[in-house]
Amino acid sequence: HTKSIGRNTYSYFTHAMNKEVSRRLAIEEQIHGALERGEIRVHYQIQLDIRDGSIMGAEALLRWNNPTLGSVSPAEFIPIAEQTGMIEPMGEFVLQQALETAHIWQRKFNDKFRVAINLSPRQFRNPKLVQTIIDKVEKLGMHPSDLELEITEGVLLSGHAYTLGALMQLSEAGFYISMDDFGTGYSSLSYLKTYPFTILKIDRSFIHDMNKDDKSNDLIIATIEMAHALGIRVIAEGVETQEQLDELSFMMCDYAQGFLISKPVPLKELLKIGSRYRKMHEQNTFQGESEA
Ligand code: C2E
Ligand code: MG
Ligand code: MG
Ligand code: MG
Repeated sequence: HTKSIGRNTYSYFTHAMNKEVSRRLAIEEQIHGALERGEIRVHYQIQLDIRDGSIMGAEALLRWNNPTLGSVSPAEFIPIAEQTGMIEPMGEFVLQQALETAHIWQRKFNDKFRVAINLSPRQFRNPKLVQTIIDKVEKLGMHPSDLELEITEGVLLSGHAYTLGALMQLSEAGFYISMDDFGTGYSSLSYLKTYPFTILKIDRSFIHDMNKDDKSNDLIIATIEMAHALGIRVIAEGVETQEQLDELSFMMCDYAQGFLISKPVPLKELLKIGSRYRKMHEQNTFQGESEA
C-alpha cells in the first residue's frame, strides 16, 4: 500500500516537473520574436500622492500574451528574458512606450506626471544604457525628472563595474532613482548609503502585514522616518485596502500604489482614469467655491 502511494507521489512530481520544464522551454522558444509579433504590451499602474490625493505618476509593467502559452506573467518571463538577452530590446520598448505615455498624459492633463520603469541587471552591462535613456528623453523634449528608474537588489548584487557609475550619472542628470521591493533583500540599509536613491518603495509584503501586529506597523514607521531623514521619498507598494491607505497617510508615507487605487491597465484605460480624476477634481473645486 505504502509502496503504491510512493509511486503515485513520484509520478505526480515527475509529471509536474515535466510540465514546468516544458513550459519553460516553450517560453524560451516563444520569447524570440514576441516583440516583433506584437505580443508584448505595456500596462500602467497609478501612483497616488497621499498628501493631496493627486496622481503623481504611474509604473510601466510589461505584459506578454502568446497564442500558445496564453498570458505569461513577468515573474515567469523576465528571468528568461534576462538570460536570453531579450530584456535588452524589451527594456528599450518599455522605455520608449513609457516616455510617450508620460508625454501624452502631460499634454492632456498636467506636467507633474512622471513615469517609472524597471531596469534589470543585464541592462546595466550595456555601456550605452545611460546615453540611450538620455537620448530618448531628449528626443521627446522631456526632462529627466519625468522618468523614474526602479532598481531591485538584484541589480546592485550583480555588482557590475558599470552599475554604480551608471546610477551616479543618471542621478546627476536628474532622473529619479528608486529602490524597488525595499526590505526584502539582505543589505537594503547599506544600499541607501552607497547609491543615489531618491525614492524608496516599501515591498508589498510589509504592507500586507499592516495592522496585523504592532511590529509590522513599527517597521513601516521606522522605514518612512529613516528615508525622510535621508531626504528620500517613500512609496508603499501593494496597497489593497482603505484601512492600509489611511494608516499610511497617518504614518506620513508620501505615495501609494496598489489594487485599491488601480490595477495595472493599458494606456487607454490610464487616460480614462485621468479624465475621471479631472472631472472629480473640478467638481470638488466647484463644491469648495459654492460653500465659501
Ligand atoms: P515590481 O516592479 O515590484 O512591480 C509591482 C508588481 O506588484 C506588479 O506585478 C504589480 O502588478 C503588482 N501589484 C501592484 N499592486 C498590487 C497589489 O495591490 N497587490 C498585489 N498582490 N500585487 C500588486 P507584475 O506586473 O506581475 O510584475 C512583477 C515584477 O516583474 C515587477 O515587480 C518587476 O520586478 C518585473 N517587471 C515587470 N515589468 C518589467 C519591465 O518592464 N522590466 C523589468 N526589468 N522588470 C519588469
Ligand atoms: Mg517596480
Ligand atoms: Mg516592487
Ligand atoms: Mg517586485
